[in-house]
Amino acid sequence: KPPPDMPPSPHKSHFLQNSDNERVKVTVRSRPLTKAEESREDVIPVVFVNPDKSTVTVRRKGSFVDYTEFKFDAVLGASATQADVYAVAAQPIVLDVLEGYNGTIMAYGQTGAGKTYTLADVVINDAIQSRVEGIIPRSAANIFEYASNDKNHEYHISMSYIQIYMETIQDLLNPETTNLQIREAEDGGIFIAGVHENAHSSRSHAIVIITVEKKTFSLLDSTNSSEGRRISKGILVGKLFLVDLAGSERLKKSGSEGLRAVEAMSVNMSLTALGKCISARADPSITHVPFRDSKLTRLLQESLGGNTKTSLIINIAPCCDHIQETLSSLKFGIRAMKVGSRAILNFE
Ligand code: ADP
Repeated sequence: KPPPDMPPSPHKSHFLQNSDNERVKVTVRSRPLTKAEESREDVIPVVFVNPDKSTVTVRRKGSFVDYTEFKFDAVLGASATQADVYAVAAQPIVLDVLEGYNGTIMAYGQTGAGKTYTLADVVINDAIQSRVEGIIPRSAANIFEYASNDKNHEYHISMSYIQIYMETIQDLLNPETTNLQIREAEDGGIFIAGVHENAHSSRSHAIVIITVEKKTFSLLDSTNSSEGRRISKGILVGKLFLVDLAGSERLKKSGSEGLRAVEAMSVNMSLTALGKCISARADPSITHVPFRDSKLTRLLQESLGGNTKTSLIINIAPCCDHIQETLSSLKFGIRAMKVGSRAILNFE
């Protein structure tokens, strides 16, 4: 027997407020030096996280004169734990998804900067390496814990795991299904038709989608789409996109011949499209947002284009060999920080 009608729980925004509501939240994570880097004398750290935990300084050759400072929502250094990253860059989005919003958490950066570690890593207490859970397992655990403690609602939770490789969508849970199609549902939502390779390569975007359907037993009806929530027949539906983007390194780093070059061009094209979509949202004079430029942006259309919550993690390596890639990743993050400036202008 369903419980008596009850109003939906009031939506609490955990870090996004007023004019900040539409802005992409950008967190930078600088990983520790690897053992191999530590053992090399020519490796100089060039990335310094400042005590305010929101600015990062990149010093060319460790110089105190030639440096650039960048400001973000949060900057986490080598000592930040997986739990710290989850609390800052993921949990607020997961809680929103549980309230019926769509949310996206993406990791951007060159190969080796720590994207997969941040999103996925799980090897624990292994004698040699004791890595701990990243954002994906923590999000799933958080969702199941929340759902099992909520006795007033019925939950249906499902997951897909896909990869976009050279503009082809593959279902990583079912290797036999390839070249899936992106379709638009009647209510404007985006879904993938036909969704199951397996190993995720640095030349592909890997995307986990967790869908949470929550039966509210409330007076909400299908015409009510307040605050950007999609409500269908009394069911709140929130989708969480967890995106491990392909390595953002430039062509000459990834190999400039044959398949490598073609792969790199495809990755660059989709990351450029992603950047354009983010910039378009930041610039009120741009009315056309080029979602259709790539499969990645088409799939993330809902989460980049509307009243949804997006958290972008910029993963960087702290040492001198990677300074150009680090600067380029930080600049990508700065562009994303501007998303929502239109809302700020209106608010003022
Ligand atoms: P990417 O996914 O960006 O290519 P990885 O996540 O594979 O990079 O990280 C490269 C290496 O650095 C891996 O060996 C990983 O375990 C290690 N690493 C990355 N971030 C951290 C971190 N915050 N703490 C400890 N080791 C890390």
